[in-house]
Amino acid sequence: MKRYKTYLIFGPPGSGKGTQGTTLGSLPQFFHCACGDVFRSLDTRTELGQAFIYFSGKGELVPDDLTIQLWKVRINDCVRSHHFKPELAALVLDGIPRNVRQAEIMQDMIDVRKVFHLHCADREALVKRLQRRALKDNRLDDANEEVIRERLATYEALSKPLLEFYGEKLIHTIDATQTPVKVLGEIINAINQEG
Ligand code: AMP
Repeated sequence: MKRYKTYLIFGPPGSGKGTQGTTLGSLPQFFHCACGDVFRSLDTRTELGQAFIYFSGKGELVPDDLTIQLWKVRINDCVRSHHFKPELAALVLDGIPRNVRQAEIMQDMIDVRKVFHLHCADREALVKRLQRRALKDNRLDDANEEVIRERLATYEALSKPLLEFYGEKLIHTIDATQTPVKVLGEIINAINQEG
């Protein structure tokens, strides 16, 4: 199988990954897929939907095998329905891979060209952003401060090691406290420089 040309939007919960992914994905020749959105679209009466509620409600990751399986089915559906045309468009992923094991499993499916690391050292600012979003978007996992702190701890322990996995050459760190349009500008400049 040919690997999909891929850009990763990476960063802690609340750093603006979804906003950047959605905006980039609205441009021609980019296709955005947010793993959290794939989970949220599940019927909560199914086994997988229940697993998502259970793990996300604790601020933890859904087990890797379930996650990758779900993601593969979704991407294949998008290719089959021509929403994602891999020969024309680059894949913009946010929220996946979320740990080193997922990255290893996905290595034969995605050709990662850049990892945009949305950096925010101020954890309290992230907590505030998540709480605001919880009210606005009805996101249960972000309504409870204890769960938010667990989500941030999960990011530190399991997701951050991905920076080392992909290595300095692929990582482009961006200050996530800038306005969304400045962050987007940096992402687009970096993609353009790649040629
Ligand atoms: P997000 O919207 O990306 O913050 O994801 C919300 C929740 O969905 C996370 O806290 C996890 O429980 C689950 N989730 C999303 N993406 C993944 C992933 N790649 N691996 C495991 N769990 C995930």
